[in-house]
Amino acid sequence: MKTVVLKFGGTSVGSIDRIKKVCKIIAFYKKNRNRVVVVSSAMSGVTNELVNKSKLISNNFDRAEYDVLVSTGEQVSCALIAGRLKHNGFKSRSWTSWQLPILTDGPYSSARISSVGIKELNKYIKSGGIPIITGFQGINNDFRITTIGRSGSDATAIMLAKFIKADECIIYTDVDGVYTTDPRQHNKAKKIKKILYDEMLEMASLGSKVMQPTSVQDAKLNKIDIKVKSSFVSKSGTLITGSNKVFSNQIITGISSTKNDAKITIVGVKDRPGVAASIFRPLSKNLINVDMVVQNISQNGKETDLTFTIKSEDLKKTERLIKKNKSISYKKLSFDKDLSKVSIIGVGMITTPGITYRMFQALASKKINILVISTSEIKISVLISSKSVKKAIAVLHKEFKLE
Ligand code: ADP
Ligand code: ASP
Ligand code: MG
Repeated sequence: MKTVVLKFGGTSVGSIDRIKKVCKIIAFYKKNRNRVVVVSSAMSGVTNELVNKSKLISNNFDRAEYDVLVSTGEQVSCALIAGRLKHNGFKSRSWTSWQLPILTDGPYSSARISSVGIKELNKYIKSGGIPIITGFQGINNDFRITTIGRSGSDATAIMLAKFIKADECIIYTDVDGVYTTDPRQHNKAKKIKKILYDEMLEMASLGSKVMQPTSVQDAKLNKIDIKVKSSFVSKSGTLITGSNKVFSNQIITGISSTKNDAKITIVGVKDRPGVAASIFRPLSKNLINVDMVVQNISQNGKETDLTFTIKSEDLKKTERLIKKNKSISYKKLSFDKDLSKVSIIGVGMITTPGITYRMFQALASKKINILVISTSEIKISVLISSKSVKKAIAVLHKEFKLE
């Protein structure tokens, strides 16, 4: 008998009708003699509404209460799923994080699951029951509720699969797999049959929302294969795995993009050891995430220009922090909004020369101006105007023969 973890995302449980459909998928696995464990997200839109409510109460809403608030959506969807399964004659019950418990470490809003209590859960599964477990939430050492980052139900499913030693972990969502690029942005996107953890991790971190980046890291660390499938249509999905067998001869596996990036350039910074640390220290203290960083070599050894990117929502705060930073001196500050990072990802680039040139040439052929570049072994990212993202994805998709 196989044990399967089935995770349903927000859109998959987005209405009463959808919940009834999801229960049919669960019943299918149960009738096929599997031991079934379900993890559910909140109904789509619910978590965002809760976040907005916290903002209306205070622009400095208590961080612990924030997690109590935003984790409530999952309790609703889980009770509805369990209730429907019982209505259909199955043995089922809901489980919230403190009831198992799902223990977490780290700060509120971005905690990480460290262990899952499985004793009661295993007893229940063995007795034929179908546990429906709230994704996204855990508890910390103080017995307070935590959340594990937006889209965190993916990580809940993967960590449950680890602790109950499941044979399969299936992420049910609103697309039928991981595509070469977001299929809602580019209609020539193609489904990927198998993708390596490292490639999926880069794609997710660089903006492909289909999987939460932390969850892919958890899967990689614990060697859990993940299947991504649609809860809307019955089709084969994508396997995310660590197997090092070559899957295809593609150089580039996928293209990701971000929204709402902003760029800051500090011109004529007095150059001295430690100057970059002095600029970024207050940003880090204020939890502002800095992404791409470029520092020019100072020609006279005295002054340099420093450019970095952040999320647009942090722009005002960042400007304020730089202006009041007495430990640096510079000539000019400039800002740019409405930017996006477009990245090509693929392990094939390690062994294939000339990919950077092909990417830049393809973008140039469409007159797309590159503002900042960053690379790693398996990805190349460029910062461009958000207006050009669609065009950039289309030309790169074609250049690297992804369609
Ligand atoms: P869920 O609510 O099921 O967790 P998400 O909205 O988090 O679903 O993720 C699914 C969405 O991810 C899709 O609707 C799709 O628009 C988006 N997406 C972005 N990049 C990709 C990609 N490369 N492949 C598939 N989907 C992608
Ligand atoms: N409901 C949470 C969110 O919207 C968690 C999840 O969907 O996985 O971020
Ligand atoms: Mg998701």
